[in-house]
Parts: sequence; structure tokens; C-alpha cells
Amino acid sequence: MLITRFAPSPTGRLHMGHAYSALFSESLAIKEGGKFLLRIEDIDTNRCREEYTEGIYEDLKWLGLRWDPVILIQSTRFDEYEKSINILRELGVLYPCFCSRKKIIVEQSNVGLAPHGAGLTKYSGNCRKINPEEGKNRIAEGEPHSWRLDCSKAFSITGELQWFDRLAGNVNVNPSILGDVIISRKDIGTSYHLAVTLDDAEQGVSLISRGEDLIESTHVHRLLQCLLDLPVPQWCHHRLIKNPEGKRFSKREDSLTLKEMRDSGVRAENLKSELGF
Ligand code: GLU
Repeated sequence: MLITRFAPSPTGRLHMGHAYSALFSESLAIKEGGKFLLRIEDIDTNRCREEYTEGIYEDLKWLGLRWDPVILIQSTRFDEYEKSINILRELGVLYPCFCSRKKIIVEQSNVGLAPHGAGLTKYSGNCRKINPEEGKNRIAEGEPHSWRLDCSKAFSITGELQWFDRLAGNVNVNPSILGDVIISRKDIGTSYHLAVTLDDAEQGVSLISRGEDLIESTHVHRLLQCLLDLPVPQWCHHRLIKNPEGKRFSKREDSLTLKEMRDSGVRAENLKSELGF
């Protein structure tokens, strides 16, 4: 059976971009008699808030979405994430990174790479060069660190990999597309890439549909699936809808929220037809 999902992070209220993504995933499931699941991606305990989780349910109900009653809440799964981090560490594909965010930003600006958008440009690989003994000692001394995926080492284990996107077709994995991404953050002990990969497998998602801004992440996720021996779903990265000024909807841009639209009298039916559903 086809299983799709919508996986918002409760770091703010949902906007039109989320509405499109959720409706898109649900419609794929409905068309093929499948199931539509919900997952609350709340690993970032500093930024996520319970009231936003409640807001997600409220907004999705308003839109008329119907999801399976079993909702996966990521913050209940930190132990599972840790188990997989141990497996990856044993495989030798992780290394500790002691760089601070500030140091990475300075390094990148020195080589003319301005940090952009959601995160940073590719990591320089600075801590990959630290010998394992020194790494162990620094950890034992309590130095704060994250764990990064050595993407070329990982690829030397997995060999060539592909994934299938319903819109983009067959894609070859480019292991270095995002560089050595963080698998376990200093502050929370996991990361988006790890949690999303494990949880799609846990929920039996067979078609991962989400915005095309996440297409590069899929290269990393496919690599992790292979290393962790997880089932391989299909993907569908949909277009990102834009506002009348041609800008993407985003929390960072302070886009109008669905709640604000509802409060100002917008009807769900009209919004849905404007989005093509
Ligand atoms: N939680 C992510 C977000 O809200 C989406 C993750 C995904 O669909 O893979 O942007």
C-alpha cells in the first residue's frame, strides 16, 4: 500500500507552503487508495513548542486533511536515534567535530563563501583530519562536539546508489552534495537527516513527498538508508509555491500564517482551490 506523510516542525505556525505540501502528500495517498501519515518533527527542543504542535493539528483539520490516527512524535525517539548513531560510529563513517558555529562562519567568509539560507555552505572538513586518539581524548575531557558523516568514506562502503523521484526520475547519489553533514548535533544528539531517515522507515513511508528545496538532502538520506540497512522508498519533490511577489513562503520571511488567513475570513475551500486541490 502506498504510504505518504507530512512532517512539519512545530517551530511556528503553518503557512501556505505547508498547506500545499500537506495537501499534495494527502492527494497522492487518496489517488492510489493509500494511507497519509503525520509526523511531528520536534527534535529541536530549543525551538519547538507544544502550542505550535496544537496549531498544526488545528490548521490541518481546518484544511480538511485526514491523517492516520497514529502520529509519530520525534521527541519520543531520541534512544532510537542514538542506537543508529552508534551503528554508524562502529562503521567508521562518523567523526567528532569540535568546530563552533562561529568558527565555521569565519572560515567560510575568509574563503569568500557566505553562509546562506537555512544553514551554512559545505563544511571544510577541518575536524576530519584530527587523529582518532586525539578525538577520543578531547571527548574524554568533555569538549563539546557534534558527529559528522564522512561522506566519501560512507560512499566507499555503499558504492554507487540511485533513488527514484516521481518527478525528477532516476537520480544518482552524489555523496558530497551537502558535504560532511552533521548526524548528531552538539545540543540535541541527533539531526534532521538522521531522524527523518529513520522515521520514514519506522512509519513505513513508501513515497516521501516534500518540497524541492529538500532534494539535495535526499542524497544524504539514501546514503544513510544503505548504511543502516533500511527499506528504500520513492520520492516526489514538488515545486515550491510562491507569493504574488514571487517569493517562497517561509517562517523566516514571516509569511502570513494559515491562522491569520482563517482569522481574516479566508475559507479553507477557497484556499484549497487556489492551490489546485
Ligand atoms: N520537518 C521538515 C520541515 O518542516 C520537513 C522534513 C521532510 O519533509 O523531510 O521543513
